[in-house]
Amino acid sequence: MMHTWHKLSAIETAGLLATDMEQGLSTEDAKKRFARYGQNKLHKGKRFSALVMLISQFKSLVIWVLMGAAAVSVALGEVIDGIAIIAIVILNAVIGFLQEYRAEKAAAALARLTAPHCRAVRDGHSLVITTTEVVPGDLLLLEAGDLVAADARLIQASVFRVNEAPLTGESQAVAKFTDSLALDTPLAERRNMIFLGTSVTGGSARALVVNTGMETELGRIAKLLESAESGETPLQRQLERVGRLLLMACFGIVSLIFGLGIWRGIEPFELFLSSVSLAVAAIPEGLPAVVTIALALGVQRMVQRHALVRRLASVETLGRAQVICTDKTGTLTMGEMTARKLVTSQNLYRVTGEGYATEGTFFSGNVENSPSESPELFALLRASAACNDAELTLIDGRSTVVGDPTEGALLVAAEKANITRSAIETEMPRLAVIPFDSDRKRMSVIRRHANLPWAFVKGAPEVVLSRCTLIRTDQGVRTLTEIDRTRFFQANRLLANDALRVLAVAERPLEGVHFDAGGFGSDVEIEQQLILLGLVGLQDPPRGEAREAVSKCKRAGIKTVMITGDHPDTARAIGCELGIIDKGDKVLIGAEIDHLDDAELKERVPHVSVYARVTAEHKLRIVRAWKATGAVVAMTGDGVNDAPAIKEAAIGIAMGITGTEVTKEAADMIVTDDNFASIVAAVEEGRGIYDNIAKTLAYLLGSSTGELLVMLGAVILGWPLPLLPLHLLWINLVTDGFAALALSTDPIDPGVLNRPPRQAQSQLLNRHLFYLTLFTGLLAASVTLGVFAYELHVVGNSIDQARDAAFTALVITGLLRAFGARSEQRVIWQIGLFSNLRLFLIVAVCFSLQLAIHHIPMLQTLFQIKSVSLHQCVVWIGVGFIPLAILELRKVLLNRAKKFA
Ligand code: ATP
Repeated sequence: MMHTWHKLSAIETAGLLATDMEQGLSTEDAKKRFARYGQNKLHKGKRFSALVMLISQFKSLVIWVLMGAAAVSVALGEVIDGIAIIAIVILNAVIGFLQEYRAEKAAAALARLTAPHCRAVRDGHSLVITTTEVVPGDLLLLEAGDLVAADARLIQASVFRVNEAPLTGESQAVAKFTDSLALDTPLAERRNMIFLGTSVTGGSARALVVNTGMETELGRIAKLLESAESGETPLQRQLERVGRLLLMACFGIVSLIFGLGIWRGIEPFELFLSSVSLAVAAIPEGLPAVVTIALALGVQRMVQRHALVRRLASVETLGRAQVICTDKTGTLTMGEMTARKLVTSQNLYRVTGEGYATEGTFFSGNVENSPSESPELFALLRASAACNDAELTLIDGRSTVVGDPTEGALLVAAEKANITRSAIETEMPRLAVIPFDSDRKRMSVIRRHANLPWAFVKGAPEVVLSRCTLIRTDQGVRTLTEIDRTRFFQANRLLANDALRVLAVAERPLEGVHFDAGGFGSDVEIEQQLILLGLVGLQDPPRGEAREAVSKCKRAGIKTVMITGDHPDTARAIGCELGIIDKGDKVLIGAEIDHLDDAELKERVPHVSVYARVTAEHKLRIVRAWKATGAVVAMTGDGVNDAPAIKEAAIGIAMGITGTEVTKEAADMIVTDDNFASIVAAVEEGRGIYDNIAKTLAYLLGSSTGELLVMLGAVILGWPLPLLPLHLLWINLVTDGFAALALSTDPIDPGVLNRPPRQAQSQLLNRHLFYLTLFTGLLAASVTLGVFAYELHVVGNSIDQARDAAFTALVITGLLRAFGARSEQRVIWQIGLFSNLRLFLIVAVCFSLQLAIHHIPMLQTLFQIKSVSLHQCVVWIGVGFIPLAILELRKVLLNRAKKFA
């Protein structure tokens, strides 16, 4: 479409787009347009396709060497060997493909879950749609914290500001309006247009979509975005390094074996095939896929526990979290408010009733009071409902709040006095609004009342009280004295100590005051010389599960820090109830933080558990201070202005329900139920996933080392090779492949939150793992070589029979070891044999397969083995148990030693 929208008037724009400025598009029309214009998204360069993924399985060098080996076998007349190698290569590729495909699908499903949303009007109703569904002609509704979903022409704007940095690089917010502009106005100055990818920093607006997807301004520079994100997590990068290292080590050892073998006079072709197969078996090429699966499936489990991870990398960071900074309202508390106490010039009222139900009575002492008989109480309730954006609706017969729960509770209180929102709208039509934000801590709505514009103001008591000069009493309006002020501050503390959130409410006729809904600075003129009406104390009980989650954090060595915009006394009361803070402990308030420089704040943060009356700026400073101490910090937030702190934190967490799109965009994780307990659950999962990856790595390395040492030992000792190429490939598929898969999806150790967080510097491949791997490998190799030598030299069996014994003993050793590999500390009987049913079944199937190759004639020929007797079977299993038994004994001894230490 053409690019001269800024020149047209709003009405012309609507005409040209064939849309309605009030009703928006019809659903039918929107569908047709969607079919015509397609999804509203930028096409990213890469797309995943199953075929590409399948082909990529064959890209590895080892696979090609193996294929070459197969070809050589066939050429030399070893057709069966050749075919068998190819069959195993294909099987390996298919398994690899299935793993990756599953991981990719899981990742794509997650991407859909985290898709941004926006509000639009269709068929005259306001609804939330995913951004990809937006079409040209759609009527968008925008407010602070929204991401602009497409390029659009503004048709209504109130104090509307947009951050256009993604498009223009200018980080200062730009004020927008609706007037038409000259044709040659450059993009950055098109103040009546808003663009995809930018974000709303303040005010509200309506706009008509003119272009979507690749047709937008951002679409045109989409290439800039493509290079932005690399999907690899630090863990995956670390593993890639580990993989390269192992590859080199394997090739080194295999070459050594090859050289020694030639020297020992082993037939070169046999040696070549064995060396190639050994390399294939020893290199844990399945590791990256196993890691992706562990991450992706773990992330899906997190979704069930209400944590949506946007970047896989955060999973491991989550596991290392040392500090969780959380806000209070709705996260630690229910976020379901009820007005409990009202304070006016002369009285303290108690309000009865439950939740958002609109039945309740006002008591002053023990005397029932009707608001219609007390003008000051009536005025307080009316102003509370007038300065309000929430709505009450009935859902399944229950009164429910749409909008901010604080405002909902005020509406409910007003309804208890028969003051309804609809009556207010008809009697006092709304003229303008100065929206609430947590930095201003107040909000004003201007309405026409008694032939004058009136401002109705509510907000944090200290903020509103400092702007009041008058007070309304039952006798009329009079000057607000210092005594009144002190009384109200005392009342405020009294209510806050009861864990109530307190708001002060005021009003003012705007006679002779200039106000302009679209202008700036109007709040300075309007929100002063106010008439104080009183205080409202709202109850917001702590969540039951939050207390448990806080104590879980304590056990897990994670500090919980509450950061709230609320009053320090309210914050302390809730903090005490949840066990975050002790009664006498200091609550640091925003104003105090202002007096600390960064170094002083860094000294203070480890000793503070509750912050109150903070702004977004303070949150950012708190995160920075924590970071400076070297801690891994998780930070929650919901508002637009929390986005910088969320970005700065090691793990930024946005609230799914109350969070704005901008915050979600900045976050690594979204908590879909806004619940603190879900954050802790995510940390638990994060630790579990890391554990699973670490144990799978340790297990695979143990197997590889075992195989390498068996072959190395044999050539050093001058024995014939104990394992045939097919044996090695089989082990690679059976023990390494399947058992590792089951390990990577092991259920989380229930004690995972009973130990301190992992150190930030800890590497996957460390000295401890190196020694453990060597020890495990030596055990497996000793057992295998022992069996081989015993069969060959003591019993005097044929080389085929000796090989069979060595092969089966190594397979059984590997399979049984998987049960012990599930935990570094806990012994098998503590973990439970059946607690990972998948592993149990896989081991059972692998045992059966091992039996099958001994009894199915065709496979017998292929693997060069004969059927086994029960006696042999029992002996092999017994031998296979030895490494497991020794490794478990080692755990018992280490645990004992730790206990006595
Ligand atoms: P958090 O969610 O971070 O725990 P909070 O929700 O308690 O913080 P804010 O939303 O920043 O904090 O609110 C700070 C103060 O502003 C409140 O204590 C209250 O006095 C006042 N306030 C809250 N909501 C409104 C509103 N809708 N209108 C006017 N004032 C409000």
